[in-house]
Amino acid sequence: MIAGFIICVLVGYQLLDTIALLLNLRSLKEEVPAEFAGIYDKSEYRRSQQYSRAKAHLEMISSTVMLAALLLFWGLNGFERLDVWLRGLGWHPFWTGILYVAVLAAARELLELPIELYRTFVVETRFGFNRTSWQTFLLDHLKNWAIAGVILFGFLALVLGLLQTFGIQIWPVAWLVTAAISILLTYLAPTVILPLFFKFQPLPPGELRDAVTGYCQRLNFPLRDLLVIDGSRRSSKANAFFTGFGKNKRVALYDTLINHHPVPELVAVLAHEVGHYKKQHVLQQFILAQVSLFLAFLLASFCITWPALFAAFGVTHISYYAGLVLFSLLIQPLGILFGIATYAWSRHHEYEADRFAAETTGDSSPLEEALIRLSKDTLHNLTPHPLLVGLRFTHPPVPDRVRALRALSLPAPH
Ligand SMILES: [Zn+2]
Repeated sequence: MIAGFIICVLVGYQLLDTIALLLNLRSLKEEVPAEFAGIYDKSEYRRSQQYSRAKAHLEMISSTVMLAALLLFWGLNGFERLDVWLRGLGWHPFWTGILYVAVLAAARELLELPIELYRTFVVETRFGFNRTSWQTFLLDHLKNWAIAGVILFGFLALVLGLLQTFGIQIWPVAWLVTAAISILLTYLAPTVILPLFFKFQPLPPGELRDAVTGYCQRLNFPLRDLLVIDGSRRSSKANAFFTGFGKNKRVALYDTLINHHPVPELVAVLAHEVGHYKKQHVLQQFILAQVSLFLAFLLASFCITWPALFAAFGVTHISYYAGLVLFSLLIQPLGILFGIATYAWSRHHEYEADRFAAETTGDSSPLEEALIRLSKDTLHNLTPHPLLVGLRFTHPPVPDRVRALRALSLPAPH
């Protein structure tokens, strides 16, 4: 029963997602949307569609391979065989548990590696985005695995340690510990982890620095650092983001962004990010993440040693570590629904941040220009199918955002 339910959900979602991707390919239009007329020429527009197509094909292949591998592993009784083998080593249950999760996580990573290689060195290279060398790619992955390994080990050591010592009643403490780890990571990500991959440098004095600090002062927005990231070492795609809490906010702009946009557009992009803070989006999403983590632990407290769940995966020995893995598969349907709801919420936030940027800079056109330029430079799909938007998009399609900006009536244009 449980096995049938999980398989139906996984296969059903895979089908829905594939249909959405196929519909999306069919909705690629020959003619350039009105908002973009005069910006794209026909051949550039065709290139953006070829890019969308190449990405969609790769996504369909990769998600099918991952699902097939999971079902195959399950069908060959892999969850049980792995458990029997690891327990046969005679280690302490704590280490057996860590090894069990680690082996599965490593297998997943290895399976994804060829797809990543193809994405970076074939697709991204063909369309001229890739600037990653083999050495950088390899080094990035080694660093990523080391960091993920440390995080996974810390999480498992604390949570499994607590569960194995005190039993499932300890779950509220396990939740608090996990929440603490996630908060710590949000703090460490920009200050410790990102500098392992990118070089951060203060933005040199000049027009851009003056414009940004002027804007932030006017809005009473505490900005501690204004940094440039050497994103161009890996990709020609541009980005910007804010990090930090309270009075310690730093903003980082990709060098690729600075090189491709005039100052008013860069200020508009930053104003959008400031909007996410001022409208409390960052706080709201943080609270939502902690609440959903709490619900996951609450549900786990009922299911993690549920004999029927173990039976569904053919696992004979009941343990917290296998319970964690099987539970993560059991709650996938909830995860999918939760994703769809939060993506819709996030798209709503994007419109709000856009409006904030237009209102506080007194002009919507720099942001419109920035969005158009960004989507052109990244060969963004301008006409995604609504089903795909609903299933996956955290940001609304760019033409929708541009239209919403143009529909604003600002008190003092220009
Ligand atoms: Zn945003």
